[in-house]
Amino acid sequence: MSTDVAPGGSGGTGAGDLLHLMLDGVPRTRAELISLTGLARSTVGARVEALMSANLLVPSGEAASTGGRPPARLAFNPDAGVVVGVDVGATHALVALTDLRGRVVGERALAIDIASGPKAVLDDVVRAARELLRSGRRRVGDVSGVGIGLPGPVEHATGRPVLPPIMPGWDTYDVPGHLSSALRGPVLVDNDVNLMALGEHATVYPHVDQLLFVKVATGIGAGIISGGRLHRGAQGSAGDLGHVAAPHGGDARCTCGNTGCLEAVASGPAIVRRLRAQGLDIADSQGLVDASKAGDLVATEAIRDAGREIGRVLATCVSLLNPSVIVVGGVLAQTAEHLLAGVREVVYGRSLPLATGDLQIVASRTAGHAGVVGAATMVIQHVLAPGQVEDRLGSAAAV
Ligand SMILES: [Zn+2]
Repeated sequence: MSTDVAPGGSGGTGAGDLLHLMLDGVPRTRAELISLTGLARSTVGARVEALMSANLLVPSGEAASTGGRPPARLAFNPDAGVVVGVDVGATHALVALTDLRGRVVGERALAIDIASGPKAVLDDVVRAARELLRSGRRRVGDVSGVGIGLPGPVEHATGRPVLPPIMPGWDTYDVPGHLSSALRGPVLVDNDVNLMALGEHATVYPHVDQLLFVKVATGIGAGIISGGRLHRGAQGSAGDLGHVAAPHGGDARCTCGNTGCLEAVASGPAIVRRLRAQGLDIADSQGLVDASKAGDLVATEAIRDAGREIGRVLATCVSLLNPSVIVVGGVLAQTAEHLLAGVREVVYGRSLPLATGDLQIVASRTAGHAGVVGAATMVIQHVLAPGQVEDRLGSAAAV
């Protein structure tokens, strides 16, 4: 379940609230809905009719009869629409089609260059999304919304990137405008790590209220789940750990223009640069991972060392946020045992026992899918919110 709702919903009485109640996936009869909501039979009847005409509720078998015709059960229909979830990295993008539960029904991996600018990258994304719709026998009209994660700071309210260090040409670009002209529904944009946190939380840790997701790849960043919800901060940059001063950052130059940032010493490219300066033949982050997996001790020690430096910054986060789970993802988490050994060594050593007693520090379990699932989850939470559902039913009724 990825729609972040619970029976009881928002406590309102509209059709959107009734749907909210049904998002737990449990089929119910009209009589059960009447007793659950306390609403009049005629009111529940009208709400159910409206939701059925929008295909959001569908018949789902029959309940046991107490004499006479058995009452029909109704269930939320996750196939009432599809969502396009996109996770854009520096060199790769994953485009997925999901149902309204956030279940992936198709996906395409793309090789991209984020530095080629928003038009080229987003056109590739649109092309892949259309291919997915075609092969899933869906039309653009079936798209309930589009969610996209970008590897840089995004002002969530406007969906525009703000001075993203590794994304030349993207500053203040109208990403929602570009995508909504080619695909349907609302387009929501967020930082990629926020969406990975949302996706990992929805998929693997739905009952964990305090979770920190840390991505270690070309960049370093964190997404914060607090009180069961994504915490974005005032402008959307909460968790942007890549450019905090690393304790041993020294004068290492960073892509942001500053020196000594965590990203400048512990990201994939930073480690590769250091090892190449020592004469090792390693091309990129994946090459670094491969060398470590092949038993290269210098590469492995460099990854563990980066883990320690990340751990020093995370120890501060643990003191500030008291998470119960820290999930580490991104390409370097492919060497989880070494990266996490470094992180754990410092976090457990530096934090107070109360904060670390039950703290798990683990590798991502979504195998690279957290970003697209999180992007879809963000959209689903938006379009199935009671107010949005009411608007959709209202505009359908007005036609
Ligand atoms: Zn920086």
